[in-house]
Amino acid sequence: MSTIAFIGLGNMGYPMCQNLLKAGYNVIGVDLVATNRERLVAAGGQAKASIAEAVALADIVISMVPTGKHVRAVYEGPDGVLQHARPGTLLIDSSTIDVENSRAVNTAAETAGFVMVDAPVSGAVPAAQAGKLVFMVGGTDAGFERAAPILKCMGTSLVHVGAAGCGQAMKICNNMMAGMSMVALSEAITLAERLGLDYQAVYDSMTNGSGNCWALQSYCPVPGPVPASPANRDYAAGFSMALMLKDMMLSQSAAAGTSTSTPTAARAAALYQKAADSGYGDKDFSFIFNVVSGRAELKNDSSTD
Ligand code: NAD
Repeated sequence: MSTIAFIGLGNMGYPMCQNLLKAGYNVIGVDLVATNRERLVAAGGQAKASIAEAVALADIVISMVPTGKHVRAVYEGPDGVLQHARPGTLLIDSSTIDVENSRAVNTAAETAGFVMVDAPVSGAVPAAQAGKLVFMVGGTDAGFERAAPILKCMGTSLVHVGAAGCGQAMKICNNMMAGMSMVALSEAITLAERLGLDYQAVYDSMTNGSGNCWALQSYCPVPGPVPASPANRDYAAGFSMALMLKDMMLSQSAAAGTSTSTPTAARAAALYQKAADSGYGDKDFSFIFNVVSGRAELKNDSSTD
């Protein structure tokens, strides 16, 4: 079975590795945090202290790190993938990053003779654990075909959305929609509550009506109707406010770069920013309901937005 060097063994990377191990791949993990490397070894993988050592043994590289800056360092740094991977190694970046950095890394990989795809995911930690991620893949047909069997071990849906960088473009648009819809839903529930409706009545009506959405069905921002939603465990993060803010800001910078007017997303981004600035960055993003409904204490709340 092929060997995968997996770089970034955090909240998402670790359960993705578990599913690759289950599928029979040899997984060699790399992470800056020693405890993250140790838990992969405890799960049956191997770990190396450097990217260079791991990729020198690999047929496939997958990266799952926070931002574009991290991805550039992982691939283009002196200890990085492009310097040390064997010829013919398939490169897959599943991090969520901006389109420009994604395309720049892809071009550098291609120039160095590698096939690379961007394959960011939709679905948070539970989907990663269950092997039910959605992959939005950018790259050539040949790259997609090589990556597909590996991605299928971690996800249930693969969409080849276009050329290099298009996976990131699609992911940014998807999360812009998710971020806006959570704010819109929070406004609707707040109004319903003030009009005398209870949460269960709202849920039962809306899920069968035209107000139905993923935010309501999977991440219902109030306790009760959806037992698995973070609202039932004090908003412990499935998908953190800080990561949603990062993605909303990626959407705003992409909108600016393409002269696209996105006033609704801009307003939603400002609310996530306010929540993060007020110390709620580690909470689940559905905590935004408490900001919208006026329950959360906010720092420097000038009520300007
Ligand atoms: P995380 O912070 O839990 O994990 C990232 C890991 O990368 C960390 O353990 C860090 O030590 C490691 N890392 C960073 N730079 C490194 C380097 N140079 N070498 C080796 N390791 C390095 O983040 P996460 O929640 O797993 O998210 C990873 C990516 O997936 C992000 O881009 C995020 O936006 C995206 N994402 C997250 C979720 C989610 O629900 N958490 C859902 C979809 C997409």
